[in-house]
Amino acid sequence: MKSVARSHKLDNVCYDIRGPIAAQARKMEDEGHRILKLNIGNPAPFGFEAPDDILKDVIHNLPTSQGYSDSVGIYAARVAVMQYYQQMNIKHIRVDDVYIGNGVSEMIMMSMQALLNNGDEVLLPTPDYPLWTAAVSLSSGTPVHYRCDEQADWFPDIEDIKSKITSRTRAIVIINPNNPTGAVYDNAILQEIVEVARENGLVIFSDEIYDKILYDDATHTCIASLADDVFCVTLSGLSKNYRVAGFRAGWLVVSGNKRIASDYIEGLNILASMRMCANVPCQSAIQTALGGYQSIKDLVNDGGRLKIQRDLAADMLNEIDGIHCVKPKGAMYCFAKVDEKKFNIHNDEQMIFDLLNSEKILLVHGSAFNLFEGVYFRLVFLPHSDVLKPALTRIGNFFNHYRQV
Ligand code: PLP
Repeated sequence: MKSVARSHKLDNVCYDIRGPIAAQARKMEDEGHRILKLNIGNPAPFGFEAPDDILKDVIHNLPTSQGYSDSVGIYAARVAVMQYYQQMNIKHIRVDDVYIGNGVSEMIMMSMQALLNNGDEVLLPTPDYPLWTAAVSLSSGTPVHYRCDEQADWFPDIEDIKSKITSRTRAIVIINPNNPTGAVYDNAILQEIVEVARENGLVIFSDEIYDKILYDDATHTCIASLADDVFCVTLSGLSKNYRVAGFRAGWLVVSGNKRIASDYIEGLNILASMRMCANVPCQSAIQTALGGYQSIKDLVNDGGRLKIQRDLAADMLNEIDGIHCVKPKGAMYCFAKVDEKKFNIHNDEQMIFDLLNSEKILLVHGSAFNLFEGVYFRLVFLPHSDVLKPALTRIGNFFNHYRQV
């Protein structure tokens, strides 16, 4: 019988955060091992529960949410998102500029599918959140990675961006605050990115899903607020700031020079209508979330649980001989470098696999984020300190005995 092969569209598509090592962890669990999974930024299972008013809202709206909604989203959610970005100083934004989706993931896919033809190039950060690279490939585009510089707090390297622009470059993607590095971009670097986009006629896609998860003195600027004359697409959602990743509630907003993008916007409308609508009961939570008490601040400010865990994770990683991590200013990850002069490691995936087998702790290797220079790993610092601390001690012991040069 003829075998059923996957589409060639998937040839260059990979999403290793839930890839083969995560599958091995599941197998080990089936065999009875307890695995500490520090591979996915999923706050609720670690006790970061959603604000009560959001849950009440969904329960309250459930009986009246049985039908499809408008493809682009329910009106109240779209108005709430519009007002949110008006407060973030995006100019001339209207309800029609807002699309509600099943999480940012769906909107990333939709935004790339609506844009790309065979071989069109999109500038993406390395390291990146790998769904972006996968979405470009799956949409027949060519991902071109620009460097983010660890020595400069993981900010984008503008010269590298400029050197990678060709006649086929359509867009630049930024992730701010960044996953996996935790960088939060200042206005100067954002202005430089706007300038590059303006000069080269690029669309700016800005993934801002962690825009309220900020530590120390970090402040977040929405890049679209600096770019009235450039066509911008801003994406965010409830998964992280409001800890309801399972609700699959996200959005996409178009702004700036919309006149040049009417055809693309029509493409978005077609794709939105093809999938009917986003999950309706959870769309109602968007208005309540954005307009309600912003309890995330209590978690990230001094004395807040997330901030304490961020400090613990970054400090303990930096205490391990041969490991270095730039302290994240945002999001929920530590992205750490493994000193290649100290360790005889050439395959970061094998390293994470060995850690899993020996310590029953699951992390993600750096190359899963499309970073192929140097050896890195990402650790999710969501568990309570009393779980995180012994886990980091075990990670330290692992490296103290692992393949030293
Ligand atoms: N964008 C970034 C940068 C993320 O880190 C994630 C999830 O980890 C997503 C998008 C996906 O978010 P959602 O749950 O809204 O699909």
